[in-house]
Amino acid sequence: MSVLEPAALSSTAAIASSLNWDELASRVLDGHALTADEGLAVLNCADVELPALLAATYRVRHKYWGNLVQFYSLKNAKSGLCQEDCGYCSQSKVSSADIPKYRFNDEATLLESARVAAENKSRTFCIVAAGRGPTERELDHVVQVVQKIKSTLPLNICCCLGLLTPDQARRLADAGVDRVNHNLNTSRRFYPEICSTHTFDDRMETLRAVRDAGMELCSGGIVGMGELHDDVVDLALTLRELKVESMPVNFLHPIDGTPLAGKRDLNPRECLKVLCLFRLANPESEIRIAGGRELHLRWLQPQGLYAANSLFVSDYLTTKGQTPEDDYRMIEDLGFVITGPGPETRKAQAEAAAQCASGHSCS
Ligand code: SF4
Repeated sequence: MSVLEPAALSSTAAIASSLNWDELASRVLDGHALTADEGLAVLNCADVELPALLAATYRVRHKYWGNLVQFYSLKNAKSGLCQEDCGYCSQSKVSSADIPKYRFNDEATLLESARVAAENKSRTFCIVAAGRGPTERELDHVVQVVQKIKSTLPLNICCCLGLLTPDQARRLADAGVDRVNHNLNTSRRFYPEICSTHTFDDRMETLRAVRDAGMELCSGGIVGMGELHDDVVDLALTLRELKVESMPVNFLHPIDGTPLAGKRDLNPRECLKVLCLFRLANPESEIRIAGGRELHLRWLQPQGLYAANSLFVSDYLTTKGQTPEDDYRMIEDLGFVITGPGPETRKAQAEAAAQCASGHSCS
């Protein structure tokens, strides 16, 4: 992660040293909206204060999600061959990464992947396709597959298909899609540094179309691309304004062959501070530790779940994750509980978490 200018650093360091994390968490629990300065203070938290920051953040996580952990499974339904130039992405036209490239998976392949997702205790199955946006034929295919999955398996469905028109978003909603993932990825200021073929506003328009169609939003970001702390805070607060229900927080996996190859600016403690920022800025949202979890958090992965309440189980789009068995063991060791597959809505999940927070037998 890039450092702040010296003047800004000294002023946020002053705020950081004057903040009592427990008191900040109490204010957040009382409805206080984290300010940008407080967000910067969280990112600048001294390592020696990190246990206190995590403990305070866990109080907020626990109020809304108890000790529950939700699993998501990703299916890269169409890989590579993208004409966009997102600098972090191994599937872009400017990437020479050695990845599988294929057209949209057929129905049988997607149904089998959904079955495995449910078997792996996932609550949500994410159908992801590389590209600027879906063709009408691809959308027809997704609509059909989603209807079949929803009628046979107890999974929520999230689709990540690129930019969507309002009509396309409506068709996905009518098919039973619960959420659409469309990451803002970073701040409006930094966006042109990572992509030139579409804009931050293009992405905002898709999020609006999804919301207008009545679906929930899944939108997060990638940290470690060379942005400033201010950009990370800006992203966390923008997602709050949009009332995003589900936020994947990725830590850049700098894949060989991409423009960001070799960029390793993060350490595990910084990653924990980023997760605390997202939780304190978005107390009620589902916060997911996403790509780069194993690479950057390493031995501190379990501590990440004191801020976040969700993980991707198994592999990512073009990189490997740790095994589901390792995730199950980690969660069991924490005394946390996987919610598993089920048709419940966000409201039902929140009710379960509230029961858990009130001391019901969830741990
Ligand atoms: S639009 Fe999606 S698939 Fe294409 S380069 Fe960007 S992130 Fe990768």
